[in-house]
Amino acid sequence: MMDEPAVDAVRFSDALCSWRLVHGRRNLPWFTPDPYKRWLSEIMLQQTQVAVVVDYFERFLRVFPTVEALARASEEDVMRLWAGLGYYSRARNLHKAAQKVAAAGAFPKTSAGWQQLPGVGPSTAAALASFCNGEAAAVCDGNVKRVLARIFAVREPVNAAGTGRRLQELAQSRVSRTDPAGYNQAMMDLGAMLCTRTRPRCEACPVQDFCRAFHEGNPEAYPVKSAASAVRQALVHALLCVEKDRVWLVRRSTVQKGMGHWKGLWTLPEAASAAGAEVARIRHVMSHVVLTLVVHEASRAELPEEAFAVSKEELAQAPLPAPVAKLLKRFFEGPKAV
Ligand code: SF4
Repeated sequence: MMDEPAVDAVRFSDALCSWRLVHGRRNLPWFTPDPYKRWLSEIMLQQTQVAVVVDYFERFLRVFPTVEALARASEEDVMRLWAGLGYYSRARNLHKAAQKVAAAGAFPKTSAGWQQLPGVGPSTAAALASFCNGEAAAVCDGNVKRVLARIFAVREPVNAAGTGRRLQELAQSRVSRTDPAGYNQAMMDLGAMLCTRTRPRCEACPVQDFCRAFHEGNPEAYPVKSAASAVRQALVHALLCVEKDRVWLVRRSTVQKGMGHWKGLWTLPEAASAAGAEVARIRHVMSHVVLTLVVHEASRAELPEEAFAVSKEELAQAPLPAPVAKLLKRFFEGPKAV
């Protein structure tokens, strides 16, 4: 992998920023220097697409218009609003970070400061420091790594630690000193809009001249990835007890095996093994786990002590993980065997 002369960094950045002004994404509700809105959107956008985030973002702001309001909320209220967005540790960290900011009386002012907040890694911190504070810190998230791997025809696996550091250095060497916010936004827009994982639209790309992968004629060969780590399979048995339009649920209070990644949400009680008649089987794919949830009919006597009843009407407002919400909706609205 080779670097380019410093002068190219300026041309590269200028070409990118000019393109963004005409073709980049605009009018998103978080395009403001307000650190609360920026931070909230950046956390929601981790692992989630813009189109999905817009609704959640606006709903969050209606309920929690300030970071102080978010800090004062119960974790359950935060989880309730987050339900369906996935990657729930983001919501728990968001809540903890809000409490930290409220106690400090202000949001951080530097990339290093942003990284002190739970759930804010180096790339998110760079985005926030550039958007809110004008710091020349480069975003280097998955999309940006893909763009850089193509521009520099990086042949080492992009998911190797050494390559990650090198890409971070390249990103930092390219970030505009005069408009870091515009540059970071342009890189993210390029990765999302043109330099996509498959079939990149190189014919419309503002940095085509700089792109070694394009000149080699096979951009999709990059980024190179090492053999994917095996996706874990998890089989979880759960108990479904329904009486007169009420269902018994538990609140996940700890991270455990099985449904542990749903900590803070309400789910069906877990069974040690297959119990009563199987009434449903759900397959839920996450980034590193494929969860198969086998649901068994159960009586109240089989439930753990902490189980509590939730009415059919209350379910709409309950903090349920998406697959459980879907199962219960189908159960109450359709035939019992789902
Ligand atoms: S020329 Fe193609 S591969 Fe290279 S950065 Fe642009 S869109 Fe990506």
